Amino acid sequence: MSKFIFDKNNYEVFDDYNDVMIQVFGIGCSLCYDDAIFQVLKNHPIAFGKLLKEQNKDLNEQETEKLFNQQIKEWQAFEDKNFEFQKPTFICETCWNEMI
Ligand SMILES: [Zn+2]
Repeated sequence: MSKFIFDKNNYEVFDDYNDVMIQVFGIGCSLCYDDAIFQVLKNHPIAFGKLLKEQNKDLNEQETEKLFNQQIKEWQAFEDKNFEFQKPTFICETCWNEMI
């Protein structure tokens, strides 16, 4: 993403439980691919780790997998849309400090 649209007011601190999305989805900074994600574009789907933590007690393995597949799709759709509009979805601290 060489040319992109950036407005810091559209971002918030990325808050996932136990970095589940970084570990499981393998997500990274949209600009440099670093996995130390600091900020995320607002209006994103709920972070997977947080969702799991909320629901964990009630889910069996099959339900967890279903939730996982749904989440991947939602996040993928979110990233695709942002990419189309040239907005980085995830930003690491280094890139963030360079831009603000
Ligand atoms: Zn970066």
